[in-house]
Amino acid sequence: MRKPLAKIGSAVQASTTLAIDAMYKKMRADGVDVIGFGAGEPDFDTPEHIKEAGIKSIRDNFTRYTPAAGTEALRKAVCDRLAADCGVSYKPSQIVVSSGAKHNIYIALLALVDPGDEVILPAPYWVSYYEQVKLCAGVPVEIFCDESTKFKMTAAQLEAAITPNTKAIILNSPSNPTGMMYSRQELEAIVGVCIKHGIYIISDEVYYRLVYDGAKFCSVAALGEEAWSHTILINGVSKSYAMTGWRIGYACAPDEIAKVMANIQSHSTSAPSSVSQMAALEALKAPQESIESMRVAFEQRRDFFMQRASTISGVSCVRPEGAFYIMMNMEQLVGKTLYGQAINNSDDFAKLFLEKGLVALVPCSGFGAPNYLRWSYATSMENIREGLDRLERFLTEGQK
Ligand code: GLU
Repeated sequence: MRKPLAKIGSAVQASTTLAIDAMYKKMRADGVDVIGFGAGEPDFDTPEHIKEAGIKSIRDNFTRYTPAAGTEALRKAVCDRLAADCGVSYKPSQIVVSSGAKHNIYIALLALVDPGDEVILPAPYWVSYYEQVKLCAGVPVEIFCDESTKFKMTAAQLEAAITPNTKAIILNSPSNPTGMMYSRQELEAIVGVCIKHGIYIISDEVYYRLVYDGAKFCSVAALGEEAWSHTILINGVSKSYAMTGWRIGYACAPDEIAKVMANIQSHSTSAPSSVSQMAALEALKAPQESIESMRVAFEQRRDFFMQRASTISGVSCVRPEGAFYIMMNMEQLVGKTLYGQAINNSDDFAKLFLEKGLVALVPCSGFGAPNYLRWSYATSMENIREGLDRLERFLTEGQK
């Protein structure tokens, strides 16, 4: 008889975002008229000049291994871009380019977390943070942040959750799934607590370009020398440049941390794809106008979504300030029956809505918020209009 699989690996849950996306794509391929608000990926195409850079790199035979942490040119371009956009200062030796920001976060955790170390996750959080901490044999510690603070964690909540075993916190602003963004003052208070306790901050800033209402994004690493030295800044090209499938993310960290991360990477993926690195280099160095037009389109979609959703009874949303997600509160529906089926949480709701309403969205049980649904509005205005019309019909007809 075969021995059992590893406990750690077996305990990992499938990514809800990717599972919903796969289900949605399969239904579409089968000819079902389903609308997808699942995975957060821009519906825009990768800009032409970026695609051309990828094609050129293949033609030029730039198709071999690169240094484990990425090419020197790309690491320099990351430093320049983040200095210009976020006012942070890094050297190429402090950059690790990975196969997507998700992989950067994973190797950051591997570099920081020993078995039993606690990692604080302000909830609602992105589903993969939780599972990655478990993969490192760490202990995820959730701090639930509710709508009264627009889902933002306060410094007092953080202070109360810290124990001698706390090693790190994962911050994500603008946030997936809530769309909220911390102000500079709010971040200063939180980071002050981390510095006091010597805790590392993994700051996922991948949505930094997607900020609305003229608000100003603030990077954790821009909050002074001590903040910088406690931070592993995570970013990438997926969301800002519509490059999800190219899989390029980057981490910025003090030399000793970057070195450990690059060593880990050298034994896991060797290095990110050489072709994708060339495309990312172009994305970061070329004029940035195309990003602004995508940002403006997302802002218009958010406005339309909020306005239309406010006319649907039984659900409510908190107005997001960035990223491209909206959290929908469905607490009022918990305990009710729709189409003869009991709704006990967002999983029940999302399953039934997909089946009867033909709309795919993400239940937030895996995000630490079981009574919420996440809508990604990185899809066309027509889809948003139709998706919300379907929601209204689903709720009305399901309760008859
Ligand atoms: N980050 C996106 C999301 O939350 C992409 C899918 C994933 O990697 O989880 O939908």
